[in-house]
Amino acid sequence: MSSVLERFLRYVQIDTQSDPNSETFPSTAKQRNLSNLLAEELRALGVADAHVDEHGYVYATIPSNSDRKDIPVICFCSHVDTSPDVTGENVKPIVHRNWDGSDIILPDDHSQVLRIGELHDLDQQIGNDIVTASGTTLLGADNKAGVAEIMAAAEHLLANPHLKHGDIKILFTPDEEVGRGTEKVDLQKLGADFGYTVDGEAIGTLEDETFSADGVKITIYGVSTHPGYAIGKLENALKIAAEILARLPKNKLSPETTQDKEGFIHPVQMEGIQEKAVLSFIIRDFTVAGLHEKEALLRGIVDDVLQEYPQSTAEFKVQEQYRNMKEVLDQHPEVIQNALEAMKRVGLNPIQRSIRGGTDGSRLSFMGLPCPNIFAGEHAFHSKLEWVSVQDMEKAVDVIVSLAGVWVEK
Ligand SMILES: [Zn+2]
Repeated sequence: MSSVLERFLRYVQIDTQSDPNSETFPSTAKQRNLSNLLAEELRALGVADAHVDEHGYVYATIPSNSDRKDIPVICFCSHVDTSPDVTGENVKPIVHRNWDGSDIILPDDHSQVLRIGELHDLDQQIGNDIVTASGTTLLGADNKAGVAEIMAAAEHLLANPHLKHGDIKILFTPDEEVGRGTEKVDLQKLGADFGYTVDGEAIGTLEDETFSADGVKITIYGVSTHPGYAIGKLENALKIAAEILARLPKNKLSPETTQDKEGFIHPVQMEGIQEKAVLSFIIRDFTVAGLHEKEALLRGIVDDVLQEYPQSTAEFKVQEQYRNMKEVLDQHPEVIQNALEAMKRVGLNPIQRSIRGGTDGSRLSFMGLPCPNIFAGEHAFHSKLEWVSVQDMEKAVDVIVSLAGVWVEK
């Protein structure tokens, strides 16, 4: 048994919720409470250079114990913050030992029930030890399971010097949940060749594809008049905006009608007054060509609607958000192969998957650190039903330790 559970139970009780509306970095100062603790604990384990930088990132190196000098430097990365969607204050983790498969009714809110059939992968966990929150908060397994696993793996490597490895870098980031996790990361200073985020769901999964993502902002300038004297003049920007939304395809190209490798056009915000309205969208696809098609479709709808409002205009702005990491990972196949090999060595049947979302790894990959995502065991994240099993966390620790070894041999 590693220290992973003990660490996890402590880390989740530290509130590290990030805030999308903050202009500071990290977005909430309380994230540093965990970052500081992690750096301290790493130093206590003997990781001399572990520290928190001015932006709240933890950097650390487990030095190589191999005679070989040509081993690539790999990095394990997790995020310390939790989702703004559900409160992370006063998390009371509960370990349900040797779970028998019956409903888990959370004690502080009996309407919160973990039930086989309603939560996927839960049926795989009978006989295991499940950790949940108490019903009124999230658990924070996303991504403190990953944090605890990396810490436990570091402890294990340091306690077992016969396990050979190259330089191993550890990176804990703030603000992943608000999309800013890599904003102030210093890859030069990190000095890693390849990375792995430990932030995936089911045991055995390795995610090497993400969405490619753009944001679109449509600003509509209507024609405003006094409503009592508006006949033939008023062109209400709010109505133009509503018409654009109404013309989006109903049975396709939306999050609620797509799955697997299908992309979508998704309105996320609408605001305005009669003279000006702003519509914000996120566009998602697995290819850049797919993004462009969807943007062209949306632009076409806007142009069509505006034909009926000759005095009104619209601005259509596309902003790149992130890109499918596969473009980068395909150039470094050993990153994936070694992770698959490490999982097989600890008895797992690896499952390669794509993510219908982005990860810090997608951004890191394009910043120069090819970085797929390996499982941490976290499930039902961003909800009060969030859970993780102790057995899955232990397996993730084994994978990290094994992966450090695979890189020495290859
Ligand atoms: Zn996460």
